[in-house]
Amino acid sequence: ATALPGLDASKLTITRADPTARAVPDEATACSGLETICTDHMITATWKASEGWSAPELKPYGPLTLMPTASVLHYATECFEGLKAYRGYDGRLRLFRPDRNAARMLMSTLRISLPGFDPRELERLILALMAVDGPKWLPRSRPGSYLYLRPAVIGTQPQLGVQAPKEALLFITASFMPRMDAPPGGMRLHTNPEDMIRAWVGGFGYAKVGANYGPSLLATNEARERGFGQILWLYGPEGYCTEAGASNFFVVWRTKEGALQLVTAPLDDKLILDGVTRRSVVELARDRLKDELEVVERKYTIDEVLEAHREGRLIEAFAAGTAFFICPVSQIRHRDHDIHIPMVKGESGQYTAKLKGWMSDIMYGNEQHPWGVVV
Ligand code: PMP
Repeated sequence: ATALPGLDASKLTITRADPTARAVPDEATACSGLETICTDHMITATWKASEGWSAPELKPYGPLTLMPTASVLHYATECFEGLKAYRGYDGRLRLFRPDRNAARMLMSTLRISLPGFDPRELERLILALMAVDGPKWLPRSRPGSYLYLRPAVIGTQPQLGVQAPKEALLFITASFMPRMDAPPGGMRLHTNPEDMIRAWVGGFGYAKVGANYGPSLLATNEARERGFGQILWLYGPEGYCTEAGASNFFVVWRTKEGALQLVTAPLDDKLILDGVTRRSVVELARDRLKDELEVVERKYTIDEVLEAHREGRLIEAFAAGTAFFICPVSQIRHRDHDIHIPMVKGESGQYTAKLKGWMSDIMYGNEQHPWGVVV
């Protein structure tokens, strides 16, 4: 049997939007409305079990057409990615480690029985969208600005049988996203309500599937009503710290023996997302902070964090992810306990600041680094 066509970025067809039809809004206007503002174009590619992947299309941004019986609308056959395109201070346009997002999207796609693809082809398509929309929507006159790229795959087969979809759609959009990386005074976290967890061993918390997000909104809204920004998701009767909202979570503490450590939850029990920011923090800290601290990926509990705080050993905490970037945490509330982490003039501790500075230098081209992929 001849192999069906795989996803192939070299077959991309281009239908251009009228470039004068829409003006680029300023950042404040772009992020203030009820609707996410997308750039002029999007990319789509369809898949059928009998035909393989279609030639991808770059075309004007607009609605998708789905039948009400489409698999995604009933059985959450959806996964997505989130990465940013950055306009550098050197004038160039970059993505940050897009190969990691493409590989993660393949993993998520396969987890929900959607069709596989070569992740390098997805990466090429993301670059192609930015090559067309980047110059207008991230003008050289706005260094330090970014767009948010959202690739997704959905099951589109119009068939209500509970089964792996035989039709799927991949699409990529680029949009404005408000700056969320540093709430004034640091991020305030509340641990999850005792009757709600985000992920569980044997589940799919490690995959970036839509089904992980909708059910987390209830706890997040409750926390917001009480003045907290995100949930610190604990796991199990031990209360293992896992993630902070849609970000990974780190603490810097001194052990009882006096060793300085940067600690984050491990990937091996498949409870947390393998964040690109998390991975980059771990790798940079192992390389550039090796004389100062030890990087530890291990299970650790909220009680250990409380104890470190009581004993004056808790030094810094931060959330790390594409949306919030590296965001210092100033408070954690867990049941009747409050952990306050001092912020100097609203600024984070020195390790958080160093890691943030290094990553942002790579993203915005102040440091030439293989992680910064030029469009
Ligand atoms: N955890 C969850 C649940 C997330 O949704 C995200 C955002 N993708 C992250 C962590 C951070 O991952 P990344 O650094 O790749 O954005």
